[in-house]
Amino acid sequence: MENEEPMTEAASTMSGADVALGLPALRPGTLYLVATPIGNLEDLTLRALRVLKECDAVAAEDTRHTGRLLKHFGISKPMLSYFQFNEAARSGQIVERLRRGERIALVTDAGTPGISDPGERVVRAALAGGCRVEPVPGPCALVAALSASGLPAHEFHFMGFLAHKPGQRRRQLEEVKAVPGTLILYESPHRILKLLAELAEIYPESKVVLARELTKKFEEFKAGRPAELLAEMGKRPAQGEFVVLVAREGEMLNAK
Ligand code: SAM
Repeated sequence: MENEEPMTEAASTMSGADVALGLPALRPGTLYLVATPIGNLEDLTLRALRVLKECDAVAAEDTRHTGRLLKHFGISKPMLSYFQFNEAARSGQIVERLRRGERIALVTDAGTPGISDPGERVVRAALAGGCRVEPVPGPCALVAALSASGLPAHEFHFMGFLAHKPGQRRRQLEEVKAVPGTLILYESPHRILKLLAELAEIYPESKVVLARELTKKFEEFKAGRPAELLAEMGKRPAQGEFVVLVAREGEMLNAK
């Protein structure tokens, strides 16, 4: 089995119940990037659950939000907050604690830490500080959206959130004209119509899939040309979270 090796390597640090289950104990001085549900709480993996239970502290983007998740799973842990505006200072504190040997679980509000969220800077600071960083994979909005979109998935270009300024957004969309593969963007409900209007102008013949409220009660995939989706979406206020996938002209023909 492929995953046998790391377990054997860490066997000397196993303890109590972990030994009985054959699971490696968490490693001192490690930053664990724990993916959390993007809507459906059942998507928290068993490994994520164990790391959250066994770590020394949880570093969260929003401690109130993460507090509710931990409470749901009956976990009580010291928490420290890092967020976009104090990441630099907090990253330093996290690195210091890792150097003292603490095992810290880093979580964001939802999904995989480091993908278009403030976790990215903490990861870089930890690596620059010589600390060990270990992913605990799980939910990720872009992967969930792409996997069920029906658009070509063998090659894609993830753009995350576009800039807010109109000129910059347009430039970003123009710049990737020659980049092959499906484009994937994150967008807030406030700017979704704006994005569709921009796509209608720059990529009018593309096939767009809007993946909305993934893993939640009102999950929805809508496909069409950008102008069609714009007309449809414009009829009611846009709500929820969106991943926007764009297969430019010709890309569907390249689908394997
Ligand atoms: N790191 C997270 C990940 O990759 O899963 C994403 C964090 S980013 C700050 C938040 C954005 O991810 C949202 O604005 C939306 O574009 C997308 N997103 C997160 N959850 C989603 C969901 N349940 N359905 C659709 N899009 C979602």
